[in-house]
This record gives sequence, C-alpha cells and structure tokens, in this order.
Amino acid sequence: MSRLIAIDKIHNIPSKYRHTPIGHLLEYQNLNRPYQNYSKAKLLIGMCMDNRKHLHIPDNFAFILRTGGANLRHSEFKVAYAIAVGGVKHVALIGHNHCNMSNLKARRGLFVKGLVKNAGWKKKEAQKYFENHAATFEIGEETDFILGEVRRLRLRYPKVTVAPMFYKIENNRLYLLKEK
Ligand SMILES: [Zn+2]
Repeated sequence: MSRLIAIDKIHNIPSKYRHTPIGHLLEYQNLNRPYQNYSKAKLLIGMCMDNRKHLHIPDNFAFILRTGGANLRHSEFKVAYAIAVGGVKHVALIGHNHCNMSNLKARRGLFVKGLVKNAGWKKKEAQKYFENHAATFEIGEETDFILGEVRRLRLRYPKVTVAPMFYKIENNRLYLLKEK
C-alpha cells in the first residue's frame, strides 16, 4: 500500500542506485555514512523550499534547487545548466509529506489575507494574483507529483539517472518512491 521504500541499511538501496551519488545521498541522510571530500558536485537535488527539512550532506557534494513542492518545471534552465556545465549525471527529486504546495485552494484565504497584511497589497490584487498563479504551482498529491516529474526529467535528459525520493518531516529520513 505504502509507496515509500524505507532505507535502513545499505541493501535496501536498489543496485541501480547503490554506489552512485543517489545511493550516497541516502547513506548520508539515513545511515551515517562518513563524509567524503568533494571538489565538485556529483548530484543535483531538487527539493521543496519548506523550512522543516534538513539534509545531512558534505560540502560540495550537491547542487540544490529548492522550489515550492520540489517543482522543477519552472527551473528548467538551472537544471539544464547543472547537467551541461556542472556535469552532474544524477538527480534526486525529493518530495515530502504535508507539503503546502498541495491543495493550494484550501489556503486561498490565508494567501490573500497575508499579502494584504504582510506585504501591503490591495485585496483585489492579491485575489487576482492567486487566481492567475495557483494552478501553475499546485502539485496535487505529493508522491504522484514527484513520480510524474521524474518521468518528465528522464525523458528530457535521457543520459541522466533520476530518482524519486520522499522526505518524512517526522523523522527527517529519506525514502525512495516505488515505481510501477
Ligand atoms: Zn513542500
């Protein structure tokens, strides 16, 4: 039923990812792998901008793109750049539970009120802004979104290995997402 693959020992990491930067990320986060020295980035990590998440990784190991919901659809140039110029051949896309980019409609009132109170916007402007942009940034169900984004990235960058991951806020651990 659960789509999460727990990584509690090295053998939980599928062989296609083990001993790659993707496997190493899982080991750093979950298995206390000792930090190696890196002189250049090995991995591109896409993750949500949410403040409740913290990765345990060594310096220089990864480029990190943080966006609402780990949505990279509007960061395409930066993804392409990390691959083309940064030379990374592996991407980890990390969703998380309780993501606030899921079901944005439910927070429309908060959004409008907050822009008026915290930013000094007019109510009408704030409403219009929400109407115009919410659909673009809505991710829907978190794991579905990550799996869909991973499929998109694999098609776009066929020589790059892309792994769907999930971060649980409650225990700060990374999981792989099961794929059909
Ligand atoms: Zn989020």
